[in-house]
Amino acid sequence: MKYDILIVGGGAAGMAAAIKSSERGASVLLAERDLELGGVLKQCIHNGFGLTYFHEDISGTEYADRFRRAIADKSIEIMTEANVVSICENRTAVIATKSGIFEVSFDFCIMATGCREKSIGSELIGGTRPAGVYTAGEAQKMINLNHYDLGDNFVILGSGNVGQVMARRLKILGKNVAAMIEQNNSLGGMTKNRQDCIEAYNIPVRLNSTVDMIYGEGHVTAVRVKHLDSGDTEIIKCDALITALGLIPDRVLAEELEINGNYLDWLYFCGNCESVHDIVDAVTIQAERLASEICDLTEDKLNA
Ligand SMILES: Cc1cc2nc3c(=O)[nH]c(=O)nc-3n(C[C@H](O)[C@H](O)[C@H](O)COP(=O)(O)OP(=O)(O)OC[C@H]3O[C@@H](n4cnc5c(N)ncnc54)[C@H](O)[C@@H]3O)c2cc1C
Repeated sequence: MKYDILIVGGGAAGMAAAIKSSERGASVLLAERDLELGGVLKQCIHNGFGLTYFHEDISGTEYADRFRRAIADKSIEIMTEANVVSICENRTAVIATKSGIFEVSFDFCIMATGCREKSIGSELIGGTRPAGVYTAGEAQKMINLNHYDLGDNFVILGSGNVGQVMARRLKILGKNVAAMIEQNNSLGGMTKNRQDCIEAYNIPVRLNSTVDMIYGEGHVTAVRVKHLDSGDTEIIKCDALITALGLIPDRVLAEELEINGNYLDWLYFCGNCESVHDIVDAVTIQAERLASEICDLTEDKLNA
């Protein structure tokens, strides 16, 4: 099959790009590897979404649902449980699905594959590598979508937005958040999250500090916090360590299409795959704008 535009990833960015491209007359294939569209929004049960785009304060799940409903009205071909495993120089892509492996061709490809969380492996931390260490996004998915109970006493290393949102979520669930540890002299993330999640829930914060040792045989029992100014250390007991160490655009699929920092001229990036955005409204607006620009480029062809 041949499409004007292949969109890889059906989160906020992919859905917005698909809707805009279809409205402009392009034939679109939207491929999403998960069971349904929505991306990380599916696990964001808290409010704080849509303030700019919808002028309403809604949850991430509601934001995703509005786009899922809008997309259903368009003539967009949607494949879920469809993992794009390669994108080739000759403008074809290989997609693995439950019913087999397909090759599709396209004029343009928009990658909307989101971002990855930096893991604990990116830090130099000693210890026995016990279970009970999660990235904030993993923990959010396990708790909000899969209803796992990950422990009672948590330490959070790093202070990105996702970590702050999770600190509040754990407090709401009645858990103890013993400390949020940040190596800089102020917390990261947005001011709103700092106020609504950390200050409002009295989460203890250690600035200029890091975790340099994780204790536990089999499962985490404590972490050692090192105060970077003084060199002093402190042991904090916990049964789970959550990391919020930052996000990196996920461009793994495009690695072989990069030549000296430039990509082929039919390949575009949107949403968190383009750059990490703090708020979803900015993701949507950037994706819509990109789709419009691509359609401008091909207007004659698309309307022919
Ligand atoms: C914990 C947390 C809290 C947040 N809080 C807020 C908030 O309060 N307010 C706000 O406005 N924003 C918030 N955001 C930010 C916002 O949710 C995100 O920036 C936005 O949803 C990202 O959309 P995206 O489409 O770029 O990426 P994603 O949602 O990550 O979508 C990427 C999609 O691509 C798919 N994919 C990846 N690789 C492939 C492949 N090879 N083949 C097929 N599919 C693939 C993935 O399965 C996924 O569905 C929060 C985000 C998080 C994680």
